[in-house]
Formats: sequence, C-alpha cells, structure tokens
Amino acid sequence: MTERNCGDCTLCCKVMAIETLAKPAGTWCSHCRPGCGCLIYETRPTECLSYSCLWLTDKRFGQHWKPNKSKIVLTASEDGIEVRCDPGFLDAWRKEPFRREIGALAEAGEVNDITVLVIVGEKMILVTADQEFDLGAVGADERIVRELEGPRVVDATVVKASDLKE
Ligand code: SF4
Ligand code: SF4
Repeated sequence: MTERNCGDCTLCCKVMAIETLAKPAGTWCSHCRPGCGCLIYETRPTECLSYSCLWLTDKRFGQHWKPNKSKIVLTASEDGIEVRCDPGFLDAWRKEPFRREIGALAEAGEVNDITVLVIVGEKMILVTADQEFDLGAVGADERIVRELEGPRVVDATVVKASDLKE
C-alpha cells in the first residue's frame, strides 16, 4: 500500500499551536503558504518536524478524512484521539460520515479506555458512545476528570491540575 503524504494539505499549520513560534491554535503560521507548504521547511521547529496527523499515519481513516478536505485534523494524544476542527468550519465534525465515525471511535474507545475529544475553537467536547460532554474552554493548568460506571463514562468535569491528588 502506498504511503500517504501531505500533498496540498497544510491544515495542521493553522489548527495546531506551535509553542516554539508562539503561534496560537487556530491561526495560520506566518511561515505557511496555505495549500503549498512551509517556507522554512529545512529549519522548522522540532514540534513541526515530529508532527504527523492520524490521517497520514493510520489507514483506518479513509481518504475522506484528509484534513484539507474534511476540515478536521486528527491527532493521537496521551489518552486517545483529538479531533480538531478548522476554525472556519466549526461544525465539520457534525457532518456525515464524520459524526458517525467519531461515535464509533468513542464506542470502541470505551472498551480500551481511549478518550475522543473534539476541539472546536476554544471549546472541548468529550464524545462517548452515547453522550457529548461540553467542557467549555479547558486551560493548560486544568484536567478533564471522567466518572466511570464500569467502562461507561457517566460524567466529565474540568478541575485544576493542582487539585488532583497524586
Ligand atoms: S494535517 Fe496532516 S496531512 Fe495535513 S499537512 Fe498536517 S500532517 Fe500533513
Ligand atoms: S513552521 Fe512550517 S511546518 Fe511549522 S507550523 Fe509553521 S508553516 Fe507549518
């Protein structure tokens, strides 16, 4: 099977925050030529060098998930999968077949304790097999705490990281 490559997609250069460049999430990097590539490719920060979205690396996600077409960038996180929408298309994840496939990921995730987090603008939404938990803006010093009944998530709240017991 042929390897995927970014081609005409540059969406992660808009959607992701790049700390080294003080680039906030949701705005184009000043070094990006949208649809073409990075103007400082040879010297781009390590964060960029080491980043690959899940569409690029995981063939479970079909061609329809290509980020510049779907307007969604999928990223592997410590806890599971982050689904980031292009700020110009905040409802992209609600369109089909994306919403259905996100639900299927969440359902499979409950068995393997993998979380599916949708990020639209500042807002985060934890998606489970049968619910959506709108968590609002979650700060860097905050954590999402899930309440479980068996494998099923029955509630989710945001707390200060400093309030969590070790
Ligand atoms: S979002 Fe994925 S496919 Fe698009 S440029 Fe970034 S890594 Fe490549
Ligand atoms: S430095 Fe290059 S690869 Fe990194 S976000 Fe900017 S345009 Fe994209």
